[in-house]
Amino acid sequence: MKPKSFILTNGQSPIYKVIVCLFALPAVAAVPIGVPGGVVEIRLPASTTNVFFNEVQQLRLDNRAIVALPLTTKVGDHAIIVQSSKSRTELPFKVIAKTYREQHLTVENQRLVEPLPSDLERIEAESALMQNVYSQFSPMPKRLRPITLPVQGVVTSEFGFRRFFNGQPRNPHSGVDIAAVHGTAVKSPAAGVIRVVGNFFFNGKTVLVDHGGGFISMLCHLNKIDVHHQQRIEQDAIIGTVGATGRATGPHLHWSVSLQGTRVDPLIFVAVINASANGE
Ligand SMILES: [Zn+2]
Repeated sequence: MKPKSFILTNGQSPIYKVIVCLFALPAVAAVPIGVPGGVVEIRLPASTTNVFFNEVQQLRLDNRAIVALPLTTKVGDHAIIVQSSKSRTELPFKVIAKTYREQHLTVENQRLVEPLPSDLERIEAESALMQNVYSQFSPMPKRLRPITLPVQGVVTSEFGFRRFFNGQPRNPHSGVDIAAVHGTAVKSPAAGVIRVVGNFFFNGKTVLVDHGGGFISMLCHLNKIDVHHQQRIEQDAIIGTVGATGRATGPHLHWSVSLQGTRVDPLIFVAVINASANGE
């Protein structure tokens, strides 16, 4: 079955509203609720100095933790560890099931599905480079909301889709694909520092932006790149333009959001961060 696509804008698309409503609810529920591959927002005591989930330090914004839930997170009851200078407490939350659909894609260049032995060294080096950036934990961002979409367009592949290329199963989709006209400007969803500029085997022309607190954006398949390594950029700064470089079936932006090395659904992340400004 071909997954349905929907239009994504910085305005109010219906799906966006649904996500916002869904994740605004836990504020009044008994415990916050998230899904595997999503994030859950948990209110923190004022004295909090650190928050951990699965021994990984989590993003904090004001008096809230934004907890990254790996796709492998088990459904059921969980807790974060909240540290202050004097105490260590647990705050509970719940993870409920989410079904991720299959997506079957055809790419003309079979080498991008089954790389040649001579490609593997390059692929491994690129993977190591990205992992190194994902493991960075720079200071918490002073301000993050509202996050803006790097490009507006049609969502053609959601985060977590179980993907098959030319009939072969591959890893779940690690970001969101937004189709847009070739050459459309790609903007930074938040302020940050450019950590990687490269031309990767699968991802094509790629930029990694460190937004602070372990939040890193990866923007892929670009046609042109307009930033350089270690450049400091503001929100909405132009990073490059939409293209189809690397393993792409047409012009689109692939946007991954990584939180402390965990890839999460960028659209849930944006909805939770932007909704959490309410009531403050
Ligand atoms: Zn993608």
